[in-house]
Amino acid sequence: MFEKINQYIAEAEAANPSGKEDLEAYRLQYLGKKGVLTDLFAVMKEVPAEQRKEFGQLVNKLKNIAENKVNAIREQLENQVDSNAVAIDLTLPGASQEVGAMHPISIVRNEINRIFSRIGFTVSDGPEVEDDWHNFSALNFPPEHPARDMQDTFFINLNPNEEHYYGQLALRTHTSSVQIRVLDNQEPPVRTICPGRVYRNEAISARAHCFFHQVEGFYIDKGVSFADLKQTLLYFAQEMFGSETKIRLRPSYFPFTEPSAEMDISCSLCKGDGCNVCKHTGWVEILGCGMIDPAVLENCNIDSTVYTGFAFGMGIERITMLKYGVKDLRLFSENDLRFLKQFRGVV
Ligand SMILES: [Zn+2]
Repeated sequence: MFEKINQYIAEAEAANPSGKEDLEAYRLQYLGKKGVLTDLFAVMKEVPAEQRKEFGQLVNKLKNIAENKVNAIREQLENQVDSNAVAIDLTLPGASQEVGAMHPISIVRNEINRIFSRIGFTVSDGPEVEDDWHNFSALNFPPEHPARDMQDTFFINLNPNEEHYYGQLALRTHTSSVQIRVLDNQEPPVRTICPGRVYRNEAISARAHCFFHQVEGFYIDKGVSFADLKQTLLYFAQEMFGSETKIRLRPSYFPFTEPSAEMDISCSLCKGDGCNVCKHTGWVEILGCGMIDPAVLENCNIDSTVYTGFAFGMGIERITMLKYGVKDLRLFSENDLRFLKQFRGVV
């Protein structure tokens, strides 16, 4: 009998169950209801009294060995699970997707659209590759007129054999061309703005680029006056740059407006005291405007003795640079994320 228990003890000590299933089998073999120990306790009362103490000690020894082994290996297995959990630590932040941002030009273009739509302007669109008529001639830039030199662009010669051509197709130099396209299809009253990309043959620098963005706007109806123009632009300036903003109009020249003006706003940085941005004048130029030249209205088959209108045009880059203090125009097209990420919070 003792021999048998000693054999159990040796086996229980030597066994090395690995994995949960092996361990459970081991536990059942020794400690289970139908296990070795249950059997041994059952036979204990049959053991002669003088041997019972020694028998009991051996049975307890076997029980301790089995219990200790089960506990030790169970702990070991649980720790293994823990170390796996470290490898996939669920508390670590996930690999999140980068949140994009609107391009500053888009932010400002949308803002301009919203400001003018609040006073009844629609938004119109037109092609970037434009013909001579819509980009120049209809807007009172006749062929050979020196005003064309102000807006040199990229021409496509459709008839290379012709000695004198005026670039029948060109990348549009302004979105004023959309004005003509709208009037081709719509009778006055018309009140619309035309945002879009335009092109000029310019050397690229901090202040000029071969492409940029414009918003042209115009309003044609009976009895539209220069006062309407001025009030509309004051409203725009105060909505865009703050209610304290003042405007001033200086006489200028554009082929398609008469009279024409450049509009300045009071410098929002120095409040008129003078700084680098306003070149110490207290004013910064933001757009050109004027009453639409009657010749342009007649080119669009609108009776200029009945209808009048005003027009204005601004560079979106210029407005954006003033609004956000951007010093170099080239940043807008370089795709540098360090620059673009700064506009994440602006919507
Ligand atoms: Zn200033």
